Amino acid sequence: MAKEIRQIAIYGKGGIGKSTTTQNLTAGLVERGNKVMVIGCDPKADSTRLLLGGLAQKTVLDTLRENGDDIELEDIIKEGYGGTLCVESGGPEPGVGCAGRGIITSIGLLESLGAYTDDLDYVFYDVLGDVVCGGFAMPIREGKAKEIYIVASGEMMALYAANNISKGIARYATQGGVRLGGIICNSRNVDRERELVEAFAKELGTQLIHFVPRDNEVQRAEIHRKTVIDHNPKAKQADEYRELARRIEENKQFVIPKPLSAERLEEILFEYGLMDNIKDNYVI
Ligand code: ADP
Ligand code: MG
Repeated sequence: MAKEIRQIAIYGKGGIGKSTTTQNLTAGLVERGNKVMVIGCDPKADSTRLLLGGLAQKTVLDTLRENGDDIELEDIIKEGYGGTLCVESGGPEPGVGCAGRGIITSIGLLESLGAYTDDLDYVFYDVLGDVVCGGFAMPIREGKAKEIYIVASGEMMALYAANNISKGIARYATQGGVRLGGIICNSRNVDRERELVEAFAKELGTQLIHFVPRDNEVQRAEIHRKTVIDHNPKAKQADEYRELARRIEENKQFVIPKPLSAERLEEILFEYGLMDNIKDNYVI
């Protein structure tokens, strides 16, 4: 019988660290002997650069524009760190059409060309978005990715986004099989950050799967277009990504999230001292 590929979507607010975390995590999974494909679903097309090193990846949409429909898998999949397979969906010209279209086109093309082979252990979809809608919902709406992690931090906007994303997940989960596997806290060094994100995760009915510290080692590796594990395998931060990989590999907790009401979210933020500014700025 064909082996089940774990297909995982990574969501979170723009700039929160989805692509960085996904690629570093991928390096951790590769070290554990896994075969991984990463599909960038952000029109920015920077989801695989740390895995590809110097190689420039042409997006699926650009390839289609230039080659027409005459496309082979080698045209859209590049091999990166440790045999990872890297795809960038790309996006339309800014202001033209739905930014999520690239994802729908790419996944359709990858499927029809037979990219989801049995030797794969994981496929990651690195998806942009504060909300899960349109093309950006595609990996979970169509049941491609059954497992989701949200990257967040102890910052207010990151948690608002995570809550909104959870609303989308809850909607698709009731009609399909998609489940939330946890919140990855990508630290911004906010006071009481771990406790806050833990409390938030618990309230959603999920878990904080790992707290990834903020570390300049990430930038140092990034300058060399590498993951931390590739660039400096002995770094403490490399071990953090190995730990995240282990926890995801061993995760058994998959839930339909229970999004917080706006009032409850503000209450929690207030409890952890994040709402002071807001309270001062608004007349309540
Ligand atoms: P996203 O994909 O969510 O838009 P990125 O992964 O591109 O966000 O992250 C934005 C920037 O944040 C990266 O270029 C990286 O330099 C930085 N970054 C992400 N995670 C960390 C971390 N744990 N420590 C230090 N810097 C980080
Ligand atoms: Mg990104």
